[in-house]
Amino acid sequence: MGGSHILVSALSDMVGAGHVLTEAHDMSPFLTDWRGNFTGAALAVVRPATAAQVAAVVGWAQENSIAVVPQGGNTGLVGGSVPLAIGPPCVVVSTARLRAVRAIDTANRTLTVEAGCTLAAVQALAQEHGLLYPVSLAAEGTAQIGGTLATNAGGVQVLKYGNTRDQVLGVEVVLPDGRIWDGLQGLRKDNTGYDLRHLMIGSEGTLGIITAATLKLVARPRQTLVAWASTPTLAQAIALLGFLLDTVPDRIAAFEVVSDACMQLVKRHLGLAHPLTEALPWNILIEWVDTDAEAPLVERAQALLGQALAEQWLADVVIAQSEAQAAALWHIREHVPEAEKRQGKAVKHDVSLPVSAIAEFVATTDALLQAAFPDALIVNFGHLGDGNLHYNVTGADGATAMAIYNASARINAIVYDSVVRHGGSISAEHGIGQLKRSMVATVKSPAALAMMRSIKQALDPHNLMNPGKLL
Ligand SMILES: Cc1cc2nc3c(=O)[nH]c(=O)nc-3n(C[C@H](O)[C@H](O)[C@H](O)COP(=O)(O)OP(=O)(O)OC[C@H]3O[C@@H](n4cnc5c(N)ncnc54)[C@H](O)[C@@H]3O)c2cc1C
Repeated sequence: MGGSHILVSALSDMVGAGHVLTEAHDMSPFLTDWRGNFTGAALAVVRPATAAQVAAVVGWAQENSIAVVPQGGNTGLVGGSVPLAIGPPCVVVSTARLRAVRAIDTANRTLTVEAGCTLAAVQALAQEHGLLYPVSLAAEGTAQIGGTLATNAGGVQVLKYGNTRDQVLGVEVVLPDGRIWDGLQGLRKDNTGYDLRHLMIGSEGTLGIITAATLKLVARPRQTLVAWASTPTLAQAIALLGFLLDTVPDRIAAFEVVSDACMQLVKRHLGLAHPLTEALPWNILIEWVDTDAEAPLVERAQALLGQALAEQWLADVVIAQSEAQAAALWHIREHVPEAEKRQGKAVKHDVSLPVSAIAEFVATTDALLQAAFPDALIVNFGHLGDGNLHYNVTGADGATAMAIYNASARINAIVYDSVVRHGGSISAEHGIGQLKRSMVATVKSPAALAMMRSIKQALDPHNLMNPGKLL
């Protein structure tokens, strides 16, 4: 019997014959990342249905010196979820079949779900129980809970509720040697040493496979209001943010910024009309929530936004009058990445900065880029309330975009140097994966890198868990 038959037979015994994919056309969706920038090779794609099956596959891989690439919804944006093009022999372990709901504890306000539940399914489950799982991002219909934990996903409500890390009370993980660590618990206080859960969150599949998680739920807002505003400058948008955080702390769930270049792309590629009559350089989407249903939110919002208009922190604003209008405003914001994709290749940067440094960062970096690349089209949008920009660079047409993309190294150097000079981070929420791996050594201190390497060595001494990612 050939080597591949032995492999298929061993894995089929663990997960069932229909769940070991080895044909090229079956494997291909698992081998290329969402952006189409990274394609790798694997011996097989394996789809276990339980934590015990994941443990069996990982233990077998360890014994046979085969690397393991954990994969959730494959919506990651840094090439972490697909194998390397040239790397050690590996299997992709998809968590898509781990979809059980293990427990719902409404008194404790927690859900325990398996890793393959999509983020949207978890949101819906929380809603069924009158509660909210407050992580939301445009890929939520496909991204899985395991993937969102492994990347410590951010999204559009971090300003009020925090990152994924802030929602997790416990995890169950299959370690690189195949042992299962049952760290599922629903405790809000547990000071018994190193917090291993936080080691796993954001580890991008390099320390083990998360198979289940206990998630915190919060009260659902009883009122939600969405407004779309525009301002001539980013400094005014930041002044508006400060005003709202001073006057209605804890009520602003999202404060998103969309540059006029993005508005032109959503119009050109998706036919989405501008919600305001005059196009200004910056648009802001504000989502305002309240758990109190008594005082109508709209009156308070109108008064405060009127005051902001008088102070010239914004130039124009529209408040959605219905859920459909609110959804249409979010639709514009959430379709910026799709419109950008249709424009052509782009050099993408998911950066974070102190909010106080953002206006200067953008002005300085725009000027440096335009001087070096007069044809560059800067597509800037993101979670301004969290200091997180998706500062992307493309071209006015497909050919120019490709030329810009081919200059990625120089563009990255300009952007990331500027990020570091302004006290920022080269990865706000997407992680490191393959895309930014070479940069980690330049932005982390030697002490931090040494600690990270020691942790990796302790848990995965043979470097078989998602090799070539992060470190
Ligand atoms: C249109 C669009 C919008 C997006 N918006 C946002 C946004 O607003 N904020 C944001 O943070 N991200 C965003 N993302 C990125 C992406 O959706 C998130 O990173 C998401 O958390 C990835 O989940 P996934 O299940 O698809 O993981 P995958 O892409 O499958 O994997 C991502 C990483 O996690 C590892 N991994 C996956 N599952 C597990 C597991 N069970 N155990 C251990 N490791 C695992 C993989 O090896 C890989 O390194 C967006 C992506 C798209 C396509």
